[in-house]
Amino acid sequence: LLLASRPLRALGTLNIALQEGLGGLQRVFDVIDEPVAVAQAPDALGLPAGGGDLRFEQVSFRYPDGRVGLDGLDMVASPGLTVALVGPSGAGKSTALSLIPRLHDVSGGRITLDGVDLRRLVLAELRDAIAYVSQDTLLFDLSVMDNIRMGNPQASDAQVFGAARAAAADDFITALPQGYGTLVGPGGQRLSGGQRQRVALARALLRNPRVLLLDEATSALDSESEAIVQHALAHLRHGRTTIVVAHRLSTVRSADLVVVLAQGRAVECGTHDALMADDGLYARMVRNQAFTL
Ligand code: ADP
Ligand code: MG
Repeated sequence: LLLASRPLRALGTLNIALQEGLGGLQRVFDVIDEPVAVAQAPDALGLPAGGGDLRFEQVSFRYPDGRVGLDGLDMVASPGLTVALVGPSGAGKSTALSLIPRLHDVSGGRITLDGVDLRRLVLAELRDAIAYVSQDTLLFDLSVMDNIRMGNPQASDAQVFGAARAAAADDFITALPQGYGTLVGPGGQRLSGGQRQRVALARALLRNPRVLLLDEATSALDSESEAIVQHALAHLRHGRTTIVVAHRLSTVRSADLVVVLAQGRAVECGTHDALMADDGLYARMVRNQAFTL
């Protein structure tokens, strides 16, 4: 275990993208290989005290190829609340999530965490404050134990087991040939997508992050992933700010606030009931069964 932990320590300052497989490996390497893309201010600040107040103020983002990812997004995620991001494909939901751990920097406007512009923060501290659980989570070719412990290298074995139980991962892990000592293979390929997600959830639990970002599976058939996101929302959202890209009506309805994106900006914002009463884009999406039940 000690040996296996050494590479983890070497990776210690690597970012959340690595830790949670954010955006897939290619994205990870893009970030690491292009330090100019997200520079840290020489006088960068440590994470301020706060409960995870996230604000997008007129945020625009253009991809390097010129495509518009966001175009004047205003959005507030208040401490402890869960925001569901919904909207048509290509509206900018994933782009919005990716800007929070600074996989890219905004092209215009700003994003603040607990009152401070993300670009003013020490990058490692910002990313430590965030957990991102996506559908295509990649794991390292290490044991399940070490993959979970990446969330917090100081965690005891008991804490790792506890996190796995809370993420509903304990049963499948103990059924593996070597239990927690089982090597997961490159990218975690010896596990199913849903199992990888649960390991990522356990890892997120160990880190106790201020901000939780979830990307719900689009496939209506992916019931395992659905259960995982529901589980995460039920157990992980408390005491932290959560933003979930939601494709299921049940997820949207359980959120405190729904933000409707279209063409890179927020076009509607409110509770499910309020938005239904407004009878706008969201109500139309619900009526047209844009959401999975
Ligand atoms: P959503 O998650 O709501 O479906 P995205 O954030 O993925 O939307 O995409 C928003 C816009 O940005 C779309 O026009 C999409 O084509 C574009 N886009 C997304 N990712 C990239 C990328 N890596 N390079 C260039 N354009 C991109
Ligand atoms: Mg998306």
